[in-house]
Amino acid sequence: MKQQEADVLIVGGGLAGLSAAIDLSGQGKSVLLFEPKSYPRHKVCGEYISNEVLPYLSKLGIDPFALGAVEISNFSWTHPKGKAIQAKLPLGGFGISRFTLEQAMFERAQLVGVQIITASAENITSIPNGVQLTSSDGNIYTASAGIAAYGKRSILDKKLKREFISKKANYVAAKWHAKGAFDPSLVALHNFEGGYCGVSRVEQGLINFCFIASYEVFKNYRELSKFMDTVLGANPHLKALLDETEMVFDKPLSIAQISFKDKPPVEGNWIMCGDTAGLIHPLCGNGMSMAIRSAEMACEELMDCFSVHQDLNQVLQRYQSRWKLEFSKRLRMGRVASGIFSSDAGSSLAMDAIRFIPGILPFFIKQTHGKVDKSLAYEA
Ligand SMILES: Cc1cc2nc3c(=O)[nH]c(=O)nc-3n(C[C@H](O)[C@H](O)[C@H](O)COP(=O)(O)OP(=O)(O)OC[C@H]3O[C@@H](n4cnc5c(N)ncnc54)[C@H](O)[C@@H]3O)c2cc1C
Repeated sequence: MKQQEADVLIVGGGLAGLSAAIDLSGQGKSVLLFEPKSYPRHKVCGEYISNEVLPYLSKLGIDPFALGAVEISNFSWTHPKGKAIQAKLPLGGFGISRFTLEQAMFERAQLVGVQIITASAENITSIPNGVQLTSSDGNIYTASAGIAAYGKRSILDKKLKREFISKKANYVAAKWHAKGAFDPSLVALHNFEGGYCGVSRVEQGLINFCFIASYEVFKNYRELSKFMDTVLGANPHLKALLDETEMVFDKPLSIAQISFKDKPPVEGNWIMCGDTAGLIHPLCGNGMSMAIRSAEMACEELMDCFSVHQDLNQVLQRYQSRWKLEFSKRLRMGRVASGIFSSDAGSSLAMDAIRFIPGILPFFIKQTHGKVDKSLAYEA
């Protein structure tokens, strides 16, 4: 058994964990990042990222457009009965695959001196003025601070006795890339019974399809292909796209047990970042920015703590308040939007209302997104 100390331990090398690792290591802190899976890898995700994160990504040395990201400025929404509406996205965003973005961030993390440990965290605990972690290879690590960014759901949630983990998580999701024609400036959401499918372009001329559906509806079909043919195919707009594009994956990548319940942004001495602190409904297209922005917030608070020798408790309290102030409203609005989307009648009515008062849609989108911090100018 090995024992090692560092300034910060980070659990999970997704967007939240990698962002925090690059930031802290770039500012001279010793960082150990625990991630069991190797890079690059695909993840189930709509892969539309809000422009909100561009200044911070630039600060971290990541330029998504140099990696082939596609600018997205328009939004369309279709209903199974054929209705459709379009709008300009107030802030806009870009499309890039997790495969490419995380690989670039992983390389950047190595370059700035992050020590990446290919193991999972089996246990994370709090010790006086710090944190401790036991890895899957039986080693023990301690640090002055810890960031838990292990995603939506993990055995660690059970070990920490987090309330959400005992509640029903009744969504399934799948994603694939395809070749074919699709307007690159568009992110489209196609409603179907019990869910919706996002479609937008990513790098290398590929189209990302990603759907999320209620398990209650999905369980009647069981097989993904049957569900896609019958339920997704019932929306004529989506059916046309499915027929006219060619999947480049052998089969869609799928996940289950997705929960949108509230989670505390702090557990003991651990700062929770990204989906570990809360997952917004994917239709808002804001989960990745929340992951990246929460890492930014955690790093700001931790760097304050390291530079003026503040008490860790104050840092945890400040992070918790900032997280709630910045993200609680987005999560609430995401739930409202999902409620509307999940009902045929609700979405049809909402579309009629938007046609009548077009300003409703950009207003609603703004409520689920943050703003660009102008003090951090983005250099493309
Ligand atoms: C269907 C769907 C579509 C979505 N579409 C969009 C979209 O279009 N736009 C958008 O902005 N957001 C979208 N999201 C949300 C977005 O995918 C997440 O918010 C984002 O991935 C969160 O990043 P993260 O770093 O917190 O977690 P993750 O990316 O899940 O990373 C967590 C990492 O932790 C690792 N890990 C897990 N357990 C352990 C452990 N015990 N020890 C060490 N490491 C561990 C995992 O291997 C993983 O790499 C979507 C989500 C879903 C479900």
